[in-house]
Amino acid sequence: MRFIYAFTPRDYVLINGEKTYLWNIAKAFDGLLLSRAYVNGKLERAMKDAGSVKKYFKIPENVEVVSDSGAFTWKHYDKPPIKPIELLRYYHENGFDAGVHPDHICRPMKFTVSENGEKKRYEITPEDAKERFRISLELAEETARFLDENSTYKGVKIYGVAQGWNPETYLDCVKELLKMGYKYIALGGLALATTAEVTRTLKVAMNYINTYRSEHKEKIEIHLLGVGRPSLLPLMEELKVSSFDTAAWLRSAWIRGVWLYHNRATGQLLSLDVKLFDPHKHEYRRDPPLPRCDCPVCRDVGVDEDGVVWTRRYYGNQRNMSRGFHNLCVFYEWFKAGNHLKNFQPLNGRVLVATHCAEKKRGVKEAAPPQELYISLRIRKVYEVARRCRATFAVVSAKYGLVLEDERITPYDQTIKSGHDIDRLVKLISTKLMEKGPWDWLIYFGSSRKYITAFFSAAVAAGYGDKTIVLGRNTLGELDKLERILIRLGNHLLDEYF
Ligand SMILES: [Zn+2]
Repeated sequence: MRFIYAFTPRDYVLINGEKTYLWNIAKAFDGLLLSRAYVNGKLERAMKDAGSVKKYFKIPENVEVVSDSGAFTWKHYDKPPIKPIELLRYYHENGFDAGVHPDHICRPMKFTVSENGEKKRYEITPEDAKERFRISLELAEETARFLDENSTYKGVKIYGVAQGWNPETYLDCVKELLKMGYKYIALGGLALATTAEVTRTLKVAMNYINTYRSEHKEKIEIHLLGVGRPSLLPLMEELKVSSFDTAAWLRSAWIRGVWLYHNRATGQLLSLDVKLFDPHKHEYRRDPPLPRCDCPVCRDVGVDEDGVVWTRRYYGNQRNMSRGFHNLCVFYEWFKAGNHLKNFQPLNGRVLVATHCAEKKRGVKEAAPPQELYISLRIRKVYEVARRCRATFAVVSAKYGLVLEDERITPYDQTIKSGHDIDRLVKLISTKLMEKGPWDWLIYFGSSRKYITAFFSAAVAAGYGDKTIVLGRNTLGELDKLERILIRLGNHLLDEYF
């Protein structure tokens, strides 16, 4: 499966005053996509003057550059404002390797568009969606008349775009496009769908396409437009999707201040919050500090006044963009190593899994971490699950409050007896939660009512009331559920950038 990096003309850093794009530094992609939405008249003239899109942006000739139709810019029109032949000429004259026919988003939805400085509300009703579906197919048919038997226009590969609003309509569209002779099919409009909907649509459409591929012995290529969510990548590989494009790995750098790190030993992709490490904004709050990175961006793009590489800093377009480039390099290395196929996603310690203490303790004289101090099947099992999923483990102790896995405590003898004990515990836990945070989620595993009350009250006091899950009220059997939830949370947290 190929990763297509969807770039915009503004995605560059300045090195010695020169606009430097990612491909000038590293080839962290299998191809590029420049949406027609970003090409105004001035840029188009400049590309023509330079000779082609590749010459203008100094993209190596052997890199495939794809264009979409810019359907997003006319989503509030009744019809796409461009004729098929005009769009085909645009691709050919500007030297694109591939493009799509004019298509129309046909998903019932509401949105605002600014026109002449005025904001206007638009709605695509279910009836509109049906009409748009028809128009999109009509334009596909008109385009197909200009194509040869290889589905190309003067050497430019042309994709038929399947649009729809549920798996069945996407399937209908795919069938029609295959009948028209398209050898390249793009699934569009799914960037707006939930992960569950994308999953269902992919299964339905790809099962049909895979049967078609083997029955007709044809190599039909399938591209997924604007979807590269990490949790979907294994399914996309399994269903033989040929390629996908996204800009999310770049944007994650400034939307959430993410700095990615590929742990080559475990295959995990870690997302670290760079805001917490910025010496301009904060003292280094986390220990250990950010790992070193040897990607071409960190190596070559430049360092700041005190020798810290740009990518590790927050704020400022140059810093954010260079960190975006770094994130793309790291993502691509992780992806090419096949690590996205592993059946886990990293939590990176941002999820806390806590359980309460036990009476039986080992006869240790020296201070020990909580997972070693207690003799309890529950504590040992919860610790193992948390470790496997890379969550942070902690024990709620009647004496010390919340004790994290890397802290040491000495044996003691204390239990919760009164309401006063609970109040004291709530204060200790909430202080520790704030001190060691921020957390994405808190999970409490255990059946003791007093401890659940104390933990939940502390979570609310620390501002995590709506990010707290309580499990294991009944039996240890819920350990499987704990692991399933942790895996899903990991997927969800990575998907958040998309
Ligand atoms: Zn790097």
